[in-house]
Amino acid sequence: MTQPEAGETAPTPQAAPPCALCSEAGGHLLWQNTALRVLRVDDTPLPGFTRAVWQAHRREMTDLCAADQQLLMRVVFTVEKVLRAELAPHKVNLAQLGNRVAHVHWHIIPRWPDDPYFPESPWSAVQPGTAAQAARWGQQRAQARARLPRYETALIEALDALHS
Ligand SMILES: [Zn+2]
Repeated sequence: MTQPEAGETAPTPQAAPPCALCSEAGGHLLWQNTALRVLRVDDTPLPGFTRAVWQAHRREMTDLCAADQQLLMRVVFTVEKVLRAELAPHKVNLAQLGNRVAHVHWHIIPRWPDDPYFPESPWSAVQPGTAAQAARWGQQRAQARARLPRYETALIEALDALHS
């Protein structure tokens, strides 16, 4: 590496790429307080896919104090409970990965046996399925989508109750 000549400015170090969850909401905002926000994820075929994001940039769950860890998990479990009550999915997946965006966030994902990724994760390739499965999934998805407004209202009420 060559040293800068007198009068030249030294190259500035490369700025870290901006964190997607510090610069954008990460979904359609349903509820938030100063600690965290809960979002509806729209860029997925799975209706009810919900995300809970810690507001401050923290890399790992163990970067949160114990009280904050409990607060976040209470919110995640509240989302799961309301999803089960309102959308009645076959299964709920809870995922905290952060390999692409290392900012603490949880995915709360309702799953159905005929959804396009089942039984793999929703980040997997679409699974080969039969025409009958696709038809069943079309019906399940339409039913779940019709219940989304009720799910979101119930979720907001439950989160308000958690923090009142
Ligand atoms: Zn961040």
